[in-house]
Amino acid sequence: RGGQAEREIPFAQPGSLTRVYAVASGKGGVGKSSVTVNLAAALAADGLKVGVVDADIYGHSVPRMLGVDRRPTAVEQMIMPPEAHGVKVISIGMFTPGNTPVVWRGPMLHRALQQFLADVYWGDLDVLLMDLPPGTGDIAISVAQLVPNAEILVVTTPQQAAAEVAERAGAIAVQTHQRVAGVIENMSYLPCPHCGERIEVFGSGGGQQVADALTRTLGAKVPLLGQIPLDTRLREGGDEGKPLVLSDPDAPAARELLAVAERL
Ligand code: ADP
Repeated sequence: RGGQAEREIPFAQPGSLTRVYAVASGKGGVGKSSVTVNLAAALAADGLKVGVVDADIYGHSVPRMLGVDRRPTAVEQMIMPPEAHGVKVISIGMFTPGNTPVVWRGPMLHRALQQFLADVYWGDLDVLLMDLPPGTGDIAISVAQLVPNAEILVVTTPQQAAAEVAERAGAIAVQTHQRVAGVIENMSYLPCPHCGERIEVFGSGGGQQVADALTRTLGAKVPLLGQIPLDTRLREGGDEGKPLVLSDPDAPAARELLAVAERL
């Protein structure tokens, strides 16, 4: 849109009815994208109008996890986002040829994010989920600048070391004056397939630890919204583009994700 004035971001306007959640984590591989797509699918199945911005420049795995293989189209200078399972999706991966790694720097990322928010035809969304890259980098700051009312959801594993980095990712809310809507602990335990006993593969307590620490740091209650067990079907669902909350809503991991979606 060279030379033209930037469009306004609808979600950042006073009176916007869209709830915006930025899904953050301290490090990669904790299941941030898996949680994002399952929450999105759960909310859409509940009848809400849902969009996802995949801003994870390192992962950009959201389209695959939702089974989106189409690219966005352009209509009258607006980008039309592809849709799957009732969720509209736009991903940084849709604008990079092939599997080219993204080497964009801060200002370019900020610009891309601005376009994802302002130049994409989202329609009237009830909820917009933004899958952030892990850590406390440029994108988290950009989101806070572009959509100051975005609330942060922190995903962590139960592991002590992971919880400490997750805490830092959440504590960015102090500087950006954002609300932290809650903490989601993923990979909390593996139910033994034989006896049902909970095997705590990654230890325990990380989610509660992050919630308590952020409550202290922010001076406002940050709840632990859920503890999602390990489940091979959750990973398979991601690989196949069929979120577990839709394909097997009675699986314990799906039930917990559905409960988290209810609490948002
Ligand atoms: P992140 O977005 O934090 O990098 P992903 O959502 O990509 O993490 O998850 C990393 C890997 O772990 C993926 O292969 C995903 O399918 C798998 N995974 C995530 N959560 C679970 C879970 N609760 N049970 C089993 N596999 C999971």
